Amino acid sequence: MFDKILIANRGEIALRVIRACREMGIQSVAVHSTADSDAMHVRMADEAICIGPAPSVDSYLHMAAIISACEISGAQAIHPGYGFLSENASFVQMVEDHDLTFIGPSAAHIRMMGDKITAKETAKALGIPVVPGSEGGVPDVETAKKVAGAMGYPVIIKATAGGGGRGMKVAKSEPELEVAFRTARSESKAAFGNDEVYIEKYLQKPRHIEIQVFGDGKGNAVHLGERDCSLQRRHQKVLEEAPGPSITPEQRAEIGAICANAIGAMKYSGAGTIEFLYEDGEFYFIEMNTRLQVEHPVTEAIFGVDLVREQIRVASGMGLSFTQDELVLNGHAIEVRINAEKLPNFSPCPGLVNTFHAPGGLGVRMDSALYGGYRIPPYYDSLIGKLIVHGRDRPEAIARLKRALGELIIDGIDTTIPLFFALLENEAVVTGEYNIHWLEKFLAEELG
Ligand code: ADP
Repeated sequence: MFDKILIANRGEIALRVIRACREMGIQSVAVHSTADSDAMHVRMADEAICIGPAPSVDSYLHMAAIISACEISGAQAIHPGYGFLSENASFVQMVEDHDLTFIGPSAAHIRMMGDKITAKETAKALGIPVVPGSEGGVPDVETAKKVAGAMGYPVIIKATAGGGGRGMKVAKSEPELEVAFRTARSESKAAFGNDEVYIEKYLQKPRHIEIQVFGDGKGNAVHLGERDCSLQRRHQKVLEEAPGPSITPEQRAEIGAICANAIGAMKYSGAGTIEFLYEDGEFYFIEMNTRLQVEHPVTEAIFGVDLVREQIRVASGMGLSFTQDELVLNGHAIEVRINAEKLPNFSPCPGLVNTFHAPGGLGVRMDSALYGGYRIPPYYDSLIGKLIVHGRDRPEAIARLKRALGELIIDGIDTTIPLFFALLENEAVVTGEYNIHWLEKFLAEELG
């Protein structure tokens, strides 16, 4: 086991990893930009090293600075959190070249899943059902028209290198396709430096269901059921829950086994998420994320396991601490993502937090790096906290979430908290009958 781990991230996820390290008796090293000198992760880690100025490219994305911080501090392994360098294969390679351990999968697996066409082909070959679509990349508008015509409209054009909902365009007809194709390509080029796109059938009312998987790198693998992340704005998740309200135990066991077998066959190492769209009882693979997800705590709540601890164990070569049979699903969990954003436009509003009071009590978890007197810097993601509740069943989780949101105080800035109060009063949310398009409609109608 490692003695010291460096956390190449900030905010709540850096705290999350520091907490796991401390419970395991491992020293933690925080890295930070000059804008984050007062940040909670800097205060909470055993050591902290400044790696550069405020912009992420000069600090949290500065690979050489992070490797240097490892050498200076004597950390043996790097936990990347999510975002930043967590899915950067070149970084993983660099980490390994310096005889350090990356807490995550191999560079080859990250590369394979980072290219969405390769990911889809790999998934298909491993027996995972995929969304009907083009065979590989679509080079020009004429080919796009042929593919879409044969498949039938609507279709969605997606960036091979995509992520974060960027480079995706829907076309309902051939005239729309021409514009959508060009826009998706140029957006993709601008965002990812790669203009390759592919086409998929656009599903009209799917849910976003993702399966949490874990591999030990030696061919052993398990799944930890699904999360329903259908409540999305601009393809970004807003509220997640586990188990999925529409998934039966039989479906869970079936799709879970398919996913676990696939990553076992790949000899995948560490945590991963296989994302599906789910419509009329069928699962359709869209992508695999080769890292810990923002929404991992709902899975931790219902299975009572610490996923970061497992990541660290697997990276150190110890293997998983549980078998599939030992994983027993218990109750229901919901997470809401609290952003420093002003409604109704979700415009970022960083600034000074005068008072911060986290809710507590049975089944309540608050993952946040806020504290009273903290000034949220304007340079980074607007996620400032995650409130996770666990109940014996879904109604209890909903009641608990309302109660906990009522206790939460973040004073001084605007946040997305009012949205959750509104959602929890809504019939579709209470009954769990929503799909990936539902929230956008709700926002247009309710928040204007
Ligand atoms: P990204 O990596 O950019 O997040 P994904 O492939 O994971 O892209 O898709 C993100 C979201 O976009 C999905 O959760 C879903 O809401 C929507 N989406 C993606 N593919 C389709 C599709 N074929 N039909 C309908 N919606 C889709």
